[in-house]
Amino acid sequence: MILTLSGIGVSDGIAIGKVHVLSTGELELPEHHLEKSELEAEVERLRRAVKRAEQRLQDVEQGIQQVESDPARELLQTHRLMIKDDALVGQAIRWIRSEQINAEWALDRQSAALRREIERIEDDYIAHRVEDLDQVVRLLQQELGQQPSPVLDQRVPHQLADTIIMAKQLSPAELALLQQRQVAGLITEHGGIWSHSAIVARSLGIPMVMAVHHGRRLLRENEPIILDSHYGVVLATQDDRLHAHYAEKRSHALRNRNQFQRYLAAPNRTRDGERFQLFANAELDTELVRAIQNDSAGVGLMRTEFMFSFDELTDEEGQYQAYCNALDILGGKPLTIRTLDIGTDKLPRELRRMHGPNPSLGLRGLRMSLSMQEIFQVQLRAILRASLHGPVRILLPMLTRVEEVHQARIVVSACREQLQVRGIRPDPDIPIGGMIETPAAALMIDPLVRELDFISIGTNDLVQYVLAVDRQDELVSHLFTPSNRAVLLLLDQVVRAGRKHDRPMQVCGEMAGDPKLVRLLLGLGLNEFSLPPAHMAEIKANLTQAHADRCRKALQSFLNADDDEDGQQLIEALVSNH
Ligand code: PEP
Ligand code: MG
Repeated sequence: MILTLSGIGVSDGIAIGKVHVLSTGELELPEHHLEKSELEAEVERLRRAVKRAEQRLQDVEQGIQQVESDPARELLQTHRLMIKDDALVGQAIRWIRSEQINAEWALDRQSAALRREIERIEDDYIAHRVEDLDQVVRLLQQELGQQPSPVLDQRVPHQLADTIIMAKQLSPAELALLQQRQVAGLITEHGGIWSHSAIVARSLGIPMVMAVHHGRRLLRENEPIILDSHYGVVLATQDDRLHAHYAEKRSHALRNRNQFQRYLAAPNRTRDGERFQLFANAELDTELVRAIQNDSAGVGLMRTEFMFSFDELTDEEGQYQAYCNALDILGGKPLTIRTLDIGTDKLPRELRRMHGPNPSLGLRGLRMSLSMQEIFQVQLRAILRASLHGPVRILLPMLTRVEEVHQARIVVSACREQLQVRGIRPDPDIPIGGMIETPAAALMIDPLVRELDFISIGTNDLVQYVLAVDRQDELVSHLFTPSNRAVLLLLDQVVRAGRKHDRPMQVCGEMAGDPKLVRLLLGLGLNEFSLPPAHMAEIKANLTQAHADRCRKALQSFLNADDDEDGQQLIEALVSNH
């Protein structure tokens, strides 16, 4: 008999093992009033809980060793900062003293207030802050009640190599600890693909399926199961043949991964001898190091949204340090820094009053930078200063009009003058390029490209805006088809204009890192791709086996015909085109 449960696969890989069901009893949260004489002892109790929770997070963080696990470490650091944050603990202490209530109650009250404030902002990135807040508060409440998490308290078995944990939910700290004990796989009843725990599972390489409803009731302790995190399924079965089949699938995937690595040393040429270059989409140190290890030609896209933290933007010095650090790691290879591509919803509190109803069509990207020039100038000064340390290019996001490039160039000149007053003379020829990611930019590519030193095609947004399909909306994700005729026609127009004006062109959207789609780009005549370092080996293997001329011919005949609206047959023809 097979019991099949489905959920959301949030990482890649297959795990085979026995279930350990983690029973996390509901926390008891007493609420009561205190005498005046008891208040300071209560404050002290909360402070001690904060210290213990912090120590636990620190222990977990120290146990993380792999280079790939930086997102995990970063999240743990975020949690450690939040646990001491005055907005949470400081205010809870003030509640204890002013309202004469116990610590659990004060914490609950303050976290509810913070949650309400965060939830008012309709934005995915901010939504994760609720998740962080909940996890931090849960940790504190566990410490207050002397009921620490069974994982952090090390109550789960020590050797987990053949164990798949089934839990209601898991925090990034718990995940990191389980990985240190070599857990085979994880299942939770809650969570989604963009949750922080999912990001950590991917970064730590743990097969994980989330949102398996009632999993703890349906799976029995110690029963053998198979977890396929690519498809988001869990199979509870004793069937030997099925186990053997998945074991073979798992070793096949491992062999494939090792095989791709071998291609990294090969020359960057297609089967018929055309050159191509692979750049990295990278901003974290670990990604930059990986990009260099994978022989990338440089960074084609450094997103700078990470400069935004919970409530403030990094200042000029902090940004300058971050860019110089990236340049140091790149050791002379070019760094393309994209200026902030966030909307007002992600800005510090005092600027959020400009928040509009639809962030993806609102004041985002360069539009925001141009209307909040102080922030823009801080960033440009930091970039210009960094240009003295290595080759830097500036990339402007979300262009829709030529006028925006003119305005941006004026601000760059102003920043250059400000620096000259300070005795700093940045690279006078720093290239300024633009993201082609809106239909207007693609349609007006001729005048636009004349004003730009290079272009970078952002297929994620371009597909979203051309097809009117929200890239974050699961209900329409089947309609998000980068191979759609409308998209390819527009890309063809962009590439022709870029070539006519002899501008360097690259693609930095996810299409460039997708083995099924990259040959479409090759067929369009593109040969510079910027993609996550983790995908580099596979894409390189794919391109070195492709026949560029055949891809081009297949693409042109597709564009000249008018069937196969979504380009599915074209993709299949190109995938098998060696
Ligand atoms: C894109 O839109 O393709 C892109 C690379 O930018 P982002 O994904 O950051 O919007
Ligand atoms: Mg974009």
